[in-house]
Amino acid sequence: MTVVPTPVPMRHQLDGRHRQMFIGGSWVDAASGERFETRNPATGEVIATVPRGGKQDIERAVAAARTAFDGPWSRFKPHERQKLLLRIADLFERHWDEICVSDTTDMGLPIARARANANRVLGMLRFYAGMATAIHGQTIENSLPGDIVSYTTKEPVGVVGAIIPWNAPTAASVWKIGPALATGCTIVLKPSEEAPLTPLLIAELMAEAGVPDGVVNIVTGTGQQAGAPLVEHMDVDKIVFTGSTATGQSILRASAGNLKRVSLELGGKSPVIVCADADLERAVPVAAMSVFANSGQICIAGSRLFVARPIHDDFVERLAAYAKDLRIGDGIDPTTEIGPLISARQFERVQGYLRSGAEEGAQLVAGGERLTQGALAKGHFVAPAVFAGVSDTMTIAREEIFGPVISALPFDTLDEVMTRANDTPYGLAAGVFTRDLSTAHQLSRRLRAGSVWVNTYHAIDPAMPFGGYKMSGYGREGGIEHVDEYLNTKGVFIRID
Ligand code: NAD
Repeated sequence: MTVVPTPVPMRHQLDGRHRQMFIGGSWVDAASGERFETRNPATGEVIATVPRGGKQDIERAVAAARTAFDGPWSRFKPHERQKLLLRIADLFERHWDEICVSDTTDMGLPIARARANANRVLGMLRFYAGMATAIHGQTIENSLPGDIVSYTTKEPVGVVGAIIPWNAPTAASVWKIGPALATGCTIVLKPSEEAPLTPLLIAELMAEAGVPDGVVNIVTGTGQQAGAPLVEHMDVDKIVFTGSTATGQSILRASAGNLKRVSLELGGKSPVIVCADADLERAVPVAAMSVFANSGQICIAGSRLFVARPIHDDFVERLAAYAKDLRIGDGIDPTTEIGPLISARQFERVQGYLRSGAEEGAQLVAGGERLTQGALAKGHFVAPAVFAGVSDTMTIAREEIFGPVISALPFDTLDEVMTRANDTPYGLAAGVFTRDLSTAHQLSRRLRAGSVWVNTYHAIDPAMPFGGYKMSGYGREGGIEHVDEYLNTKGVFIRID
């Protein structure tokens, strides 16, 4: 689904003005009065300042969310929550271009890609709307003495704390707020300090659609100052987190105080396996964009590219040629395919991996250099990089880079590649390219990953669950099981004899 841009006026000028955060239905500053800047990663310009929220602001937001949860929101019928979600989806659709511009300006995602993500946001909202009226318990026959009726009910878990990364602010926000609204929970969302603006726009649109005060709250701030107090808060019933595995581990530890429920969408080092019989015309661009899209700042990046030895050299050559042809620039240009990295820190991180690849003996066959021609000098642009001659033990083949770097590794047999593909602490996604149905089934069955794509990649649909195995986390977003993450099951026994 690609939504055609509509000429709705922009609400926010993204010209350095101050934006407040949203607590209990009001736009407010941090209790400390502190602010921080957010920049356009393509131009380096400050596009807004936002409150540097801290513990006091989290306290206030959680209290607002609790009051709303116990108040009229708890009496909203499923069909009312459904109508609300549908209104939100319609409003988002009207403002879709503005949402996309906000993501592009705040975190660099090329606008064409942002627009093409409509199904992941608008479709997801409509899917949650459907789920709002599909929540149900069960009547269960029991073996107890006497005449006892037993059944289960599903109840919202309560106040949800959501913490999201910067690489997909719209989808990450909606994937957390949507199920909270569908199930009757309330939510305090902390966006990443690197890209806080779209979640604020989302809150504004949600309020306009009629979300009651306190049901959705956004506290901007850093992980340490605002994220940690949210995770530790004793009145938060559940944390939904998307981010790095290291932060996920610390969140799990910090959430132990009241044993709150936690779901974790974490990092990845996903394998893509190209078999000798693959359709290369399709496999080359899809494998390339499995990593290069969003400059490699994607959790599901297929950064370990296993290629059958007979086609390996040809494939790498085509991949390098494809990488060199990509249009790199400010994502606001609709023809841009690759935007900047989010920050100087991320740029240094990627450069470190490029150096380690070379030092450990891999061969850089394309890209890797910083691009500084003309306006590119203002941002952190890296030419999409392809390494060949990579071995399984090299750092670039083991660690999540979160940058535009692919490592090509030859393989000889399916058994061998399966073992190697699964030899990673992560398990978020995997790709396979083959024309053979039996190979497709065998590989997809044996790959230890939450999503397996055959002859495609990045296919994400509201009706399909998304999430990780192993250190890529647990819990699922999307699919009918998603709402279960926001529900408690109660067993009721009624003696009727
Ligand atoms: P990050 O872990 O550094 O930060 C994520 C969020 O956690 C931010 O909002 C940050 O402020 C907050 N945070 C940091 N420390 C915290 C703490 N101690 N307590 C509470 N909150 C804290 O990740 P990032 O650099 O923003 O994003 C990149 C990572 O996210 C990558 O590893 C990527 O794979 C992962 N990611 C995963 C998915 C998925 O669905 N599995 C999707 C997108 C991104």
